Amino acid sequence: MTDSARYAEVVLPVPVSRAYTYQIPDALRTRVVPGARVVVPVRRGAVVGIVSAVSDQLSAVRDVKPISAAPDPEPALSPALLQLGRWISDYYGAPLGLALRAILPGPLWSVAHPEGPGEATERVLVLTGRVESLIERERVFKRSPKRRAAYEAVEALGGSAPIRHLTGQLKLSGGVLDGLVTQGLARIDRLSETRDPFANLSSPPPGSLTADQQRVVAAIQNTPADTPVLIHGVTGSGKTLVYLDLLRGVVASGRGAIVLVPEIALTPQTVARVRGVFGDQVAVLHSGLSDGERADAWRALRRGERRVAVGPRSAVFAPVQELGAIVVDEEHDASYKQGSAPRYHARDAAIERARLEGGARVILGSATPSLETLDSAARGTIASFALPERIGARPLPAVEVIDLKTAPRVPEAGVIPWTEALDGAVGAALSRGEQAILLLNRRGFATFVQCPACGDVRTCPNCAIALTVHQTPPALRCHYCGHEQPVPEICAICGHATQRLRGLGTQQLEHFVAARFPAARIARMDLDTTSTKWAHHRILERVAAGEVDILLGTQMIAKGLDFPNVTVVGVVDADTGLHFPDFRAAERTFQLVAQVAGRAGRGPKGGRVYVQTRSPDHHGIRAAAAHSVEAFARAELPLRTPPNPPYPPSVGLVRFVASGRDQARTAAIAERIAAWLRRAGTERLGGALTVLGPAPCPITRLKGLWRWHVLVKAAEARALGRVVRAWRAKSHRAVTVDRDPVSLL
Ligand code: ADP
Ligand code: ZN
Repeated sequence: MTDSARYAEVVLPVPVSRAYTYQIPDALRTRVVPGARVVVPVRRGAVVGIVSAVSDQLSAVRDVKPISAAPDPEPALSPALLQLGRWISDYYGAPLGLALRAILPGPLWSVAHPEGPGEATERVLVLTGRVESLIERERVFKRSPKRRAAYEAVEALGGSAPIRHLTGQLKLSGGVLDGLVTQGLARIDRLSETRDPFANLSSPPPGSLTADQQRVVAAIQNTPADTPVLIHGVTGSGKTLVYLDLLRGVVASGRGAIVLVPEIALTPQTVARVRGVFGDQVAVLHSGLSDGERADAWRALRRGERRVAVGPRSAVFAPVQELGAIVVDEEHDASYKQGSAPRYHARDAAIERARLEGGARVILGSATPSLETLDSAARGTIASFALPERIGARPLPAVEVIDLKTAPRVPEAGVIPWTEALDGAVGAALSRGEQAILLLNRRGFATFVQCPACGDVRTCPNCAIALTVHQTPPALRCHYCGHEQPVPEICAICGHATQRLRGLGTQQLEHFVAARFPAARIARMDLDTTSTKWAHHRILERVAAGEVDILLGTQMIAKGLDFPNVTVVGVVDADTGLHFPDFRAAERTFQLVAQVAGRAGRGPKGGRVYVQTRSPDHHGIRAAAAHSVEAFARAELPLRTPPNPPYPPSVGLVRFVASGRDQARTAAIAERIAAWLRRAGTERLGGALTVLGPAPCPITRLKGLWRWHVLVKAAEARALGRVVRAWRAKSHRAVTVDRDPVSLL
């Protein structure tokens, strides 16, 4: 009834569940349809909203204001995307306004339409001369330790950094930076001159499909499009080429596709390969885009000028026309789950979107599929296809599990867990001109500071978390809220004169490795070295170009990298996440170790992996050493199934978290949630729910707020759906709802 419609229901990007009624001016009738963007008056000005429905009935609301504008000739959200918003709202118990806010990119919610980038220029220090090794460094910086510190800080940031960042956050002096320029080691650029490294990234496909790849492509083409498929291929089995071959068919038939990757900055090789096949048809949606560029990319897809979108989680909402396929690469990756409302999982949203688009195919890929996906495959709701071998019949690298409790260590390493086996392997690789990757999933210098006399550990005043010791610049920092304080010289509690640094972080590992292998060129990759634009890319580019001998870092370096000259991978401490109070701790560890192991031996020289652990018999470590997700699932699934306390995938799980400044009041809110859930479970849902708690969250305080949680389990998804929707109607601000949570901390 669009023709006669006089009233529109408009959803605003705010955390409320209701829509607002506005009158449709005659002049805007053709444009105000479900899914359209409109500008509407609100109390303090105007906002952009999305039309959810139109009608010719005068609603009960009086004083209905008219819509001010409808900027787009075509509705911003297609019917399928509007429906997807409703599904996200219903499934995850999020207000529709928040679900739609996630679907439409930020700049399109701005009343003043962004017209182009409008970049502010920024002064950036770029290293030019390279002082690669420790030996050379001693010589070049003999009389200028400050200059060396500055050089190393910029190097750690990937070779360039905004001056503002260096003098502000890192507290380096302008004079020292100028000194680097005079010495010919750096120059100063303007940011607008630094190019977007993704703009031209392109690499041609590696050749024709292998027999295995052909077999999987054919099998998938013979699978009904409405059955999602999983490509379970070992690391280096050539999954990407299978995706691309399938997508070629999709695009040739005039339809479009979405390729989801865990994080664009960490997967430049995948982006390059997609562009190598589809060229200008591709829109890369990455976090480095300006608002204007983001809006442009969105419009090009909406108008059908580009047919393939590549991006992280949120690209599942890309307005690709006539969607034919969605690829979810590394489907097990935790970054696919959004950490704030709406807490959607991009893999599950992809499956729902494909259904709503009618006939679009979902292709999941991983060497370490999640247990949820394996469970769906076992039930037959997902069809699974294996690529059991590496390209070129290369063997998977042998994995040596080293018991840190007993293995001989290098004496010079002191407290650092550095065994002779790993040391020898890294040294040998370097002497042969090969590259090594070292994983330590903990950033900073040391994990915490402890007083050797009274045992006191310095914790964050806002969070119940030990403060991490950082070296550039020196400070204790909270990894949860960013709180910073000086490193104490004496104990604040007992006054003891020396304090001990405990636990190893990537900064300290870098120092040690640099001293141990003074001729090696080392790059560190963690959150601290990748805080500036394009930093990831610059580091990976240097590794690809052979300018780095040892790449060390956190889980960032475990994601999909394909460097054939990497022959040694070392997991310095596999246990960093193994004992977290979270039912996924073992799965995470398994995935991380198996994935980083998969970075070794991808070229003709082969490779070997060294996993240092204090739990050599843990099933997660053993399965990773065997590159076997089947072995992991066989050991792990029984632990999540009765008579053990059931956890996903054997049940569905919803987590309610209450948080507040007052501990007793927060606990009381959690108490009420639990009581409400228990009532709902018995009265309305016939005992279908198991309610656990309330209990304090493992991280009891975060950013100044106390946290209590309640867990709800049910075998029936429908029962959980009813609970989260009933809860959504109550819209309680102090409580977050997380369905299918990926973290219980
Ligand atoms: P995965 O994602 O399964 O770990 P990739 O897709 O990165 O594996 O492929 C591993 C390597 O094998 C890449 O360097 C890729 O270019 C190469 N490759 C893939 N398929 C073929 C093929 N059919 N012929 C030759 N090389 C291939
Ligand atoms: Zn904190």
